[in-house]
Amino acid sequence: MKIFIPALLLLVPLSVTRTEVHPATSPRPKNIILLIGDGMGLSQISAGYYYNGQQLNLASFPVTGLVTTHSHSHLITDSAAGGTAIACGCKTTNGTVGMDTRKKDCTSVLELAEGRGMATGIVASSSVTHATPASFVAHVPSRSEMDAIAKFYLDTDVDLVIGGGMKYFRERSDNRNLYDELLKKGYIVSNFQEARLRDISPDPQKPFAWFGAREEPESVARGRDWLPYAATIAPPFLKSRSDRGFFMMLEGSQIDWACHNNDGPGAVQEMIDFDMAIGKILEFARTDGETLVIVTADHETGGLALEQGTGPDTLSLGFNTGGHTASLVPVFAFGPGAENFGGFMDNTEIFSKMKFLLGL
Ligand code: MG
Ligand code: ZN
Repeated sequence: MKIFIPALLLLVPLSVTRTEVHPATSPRPKNIILLIGDGMGLSQISAGYYYNGQQLNLASFPVTGLVTTHSHSHLITDSAAGGTAIACGCKTTNGTVGMDTRKKDCTSVLELAEGRGMATGIVASSSVTHATPASFVAHVPSRSEMDAIAKFYLDTDVDLVIGGGMKYFRERSDNRNLYDELLKKGYIVSNFQEARLRDISPDPQKPFAWFGAREEPESVARGRDWLPYAATIAPPFLKSRSDRGFFMMLEGSQIDWACHNNDGPGAVQEMIDFDMAIGKILEFARTDGETLVIVTADHETGGLALEQGTGPDTLSLGFNTGGHTASLVPVFAFGPGAENFGGFMDNTEIFSKMKFLLGL
């Protein structure tokens, strides 16, 4: 049964009016690793938990909260507006990347960190020009402008880029070869699969961009250890790049895609892959002691429900839609400053809390 919210409710201003309170005594992290599970609502986490033998690395986080995800234009956000809210603290129109509703640039936490001399990194299991990673580096009116988004990687001095989307660097409508331009800027540009197979550690002296696919790294082709491997090499590399700390965003991009396809097993696999990456990040953070790890989602996808399966101990995964939903998503935090992420908050507050905690 579908219940429609009367249109009148949509007139309720969607901008944020909540006041944030940061404890003055809160410990401050030196580094922040933000992990975004695209489309990862509570049901996706629940499915991953039960299909993984009732265990997830997510279960070991000491602080959890709930996050509202509506955009400025819609109660149901897309990943561009959702990413922009988390990355820049700015509620915008669905489809917009790193800009407000008047198409004015919003500055992202990654750009603020970069401006303070911190090291920065982007990892995604989609193309790096896709809406979520793009929200941290690019400013374009439409998420479909992939060629334009790729150019921002040349303007922002991101120290580490891992993901798909080589096509937008090398096969461009403006005939620029951004792959060569990255090389000229001093980047080590390579093939992620090759680096992974040969277990090449990145050279801390040089920034790097490792591409894992011409376009989107499909789950079968990329293998289960794509994200966990990236999660293992990225934090120590970034730590060695700057004395001032680092900011990194890692996205489990394809939980969303599996749920758009109403593909239950695919969603579970992507969820567990993402959780394995979370485990690697937690290993680093536990040893490091100065790193705050935040895990959240931009929205839920599919209206996933865990229903009774054929037996008392089996589940059936049911989807209510092929699109996104307005369900709240969880946030998890571990490390110095984690206590700021308990309770009920808006997605823009993830940005303001990170900004506050890093003193940006
Ligand atoms: Mg995404
Ligand atoms: Zn989606």
